[in-house]
Amino acid sequence: KPLVGQWIKEGHQNYVLMYNMLTGIRTAVSRCQAKVNREITPEDYTAAHKYSFDILGNELTPSVKYDFKFKDYAPWVFRNLREQSFHLDPADYLLSLTEKYILSELGSPGKSGSFFYFSRDYRFIIKTIHHSEHKFIRKILKDYHEYVRKNPHTLLSRFYGLHRVKLPRGRKIHFVIMNNLFPMHKDIHETYDLKGSTVGRLYPEDVAAEKQNKVTLKDLNWINRGKRLELGPEKRALLTEQLKRDAEFLKMVYVMDYSLLVGVHNMVRGNRDNLRRNTLKVVSPDISRGTSQSKSIRSPGALRRAMRQTGPERLDTSTDHLPDSETEDERQHFLFYQDDGGLRATDEGNDAMDTIYYLGIIDICTPYSTLKRAEHIWKGLHADRHKISPVEPGEYSGRFVSFLMAVMRDGEGGERFRD
Ligand code: ATP
Ligand code: CA
Ligand code: CA
Repeated sequence: KPLVGQWIKEGHQNYVLMYNMLTGIRTAVSRCQAKVNREITPEDYTAAHKYSFDILGNELTPSVKYDFKFKDYAPWVFRNLREQSFHLDPADYLLSLTEKYILSELGSPGKSGSFFYFSRDYRFIIKTIHHSEHKFIRKILKDYHEYVRKNPHTLLSRFYGLHRVKLPRGRKIHFVIMNNLFPMHKDIHETYDLKGSTVGRLYPEDVAAEKQNKVTLKDLNWINRGKRLELGPEKRALLTEQLKRDAEFLKMVYVMDYSLLVGVHNMVRGNRDNLRRNTLKVVSPDISRGTSQSKSIRSPGALRRAMRQTGPERLDTSTDHLPDSETEDERQHFLFYQDDGGLRATDEGNDAMDTIYYLGIIDICTPYSTLKRAEHIWKGLHADRHKISPVEPGEYSGRFVSFLMAVMRDGEGGERFRD
């Protein structure tokens, strides 16, 4: 499946869902943001605020086009995560997501049935999640918050918000807002989703070639292509240390099935293939001509302006004035996202090479449930019990880290992980 999606505009089958999600986010985030910041209390972790939207509107909610209910979970915790830990500008966040009512839908790239939506500037991803994943995030939120505070350079998915939309027919849709690891302004020439599991972890090479690698490749593609994470001793040591800590956290909260997403940008090739922008141009001729709005976004009155933007008469689905995403300033704060938003490859002398990696640990909300245990036994009947994807979290994290260490520049490679 392509890495860049389809714009949702009025008339699209998920337009109403998008409208409701964005309206809810704008209202709820603005409300929390309008208050004077304060310390987090224990109750903040379990808090959930309900909003009821309708055509009439009231003092809490603006008048809107569709009736729906919205729930905002732990708003103060997520505000703290966004501002304190992830260094997001509050106005940027609101404007990127809700200034114009437009998102790009990636559809459902994984097997889980989750849908992915990009904010129109591609900085944020909205992922719909299963109820069990939602419950899990709420359960570990305090641990996650604490962990992120102590580990500012973590590679774990950055969670910016957790919400729920309920449509009149009663369907509840849970979703989380997180960081897009891949920057808008760089072509990603190859993408790998690495777990350290090798059973069934091969994307067909002929199909990949047909699609000019605009697909997510897996562990066996990485091994067969003889890939290495080219990092010299300095970066290798830092990355290994962080991966170990992150994996230790994931083991502690008892999850598995997560992966290291690796985007590879080849600086010699540069953006000449216009991979991401090209795909976008088909649906939106305006995207590459970003009018530089990020300047005004950072002006002092911007947050107030962003919050004032309420009422459906202000909604606009044109794709003009897309912000210039070359300036994701928050990335400068993070060790592994500092080189053009990513991590530049280095040689044994720690000198820079012509590759930039965009790395992050994604899909971190699958607890080792009874379901997974059953899958483990079932899959284990047909293949090596230790090489299949669903294994117990302790084994999973150990295998994950040793695989990634093996595929770093000085490692022995991934051969021994084969079945
Ligand atoms: P499954 O459970 O079947 O693995 P899923 O629906 O839970 O699938 P993920 O594994 O979270 O989905 O992600 C699927 C793909 O979406 C990834 O392989 C990657 O290509 C893309 N993706 C996910 N998260 C991000 C992110 N933060 N930044 C960029 N791309 C992402
Ligand atoms: Ca996954
Ligand atoms: Ca998943």
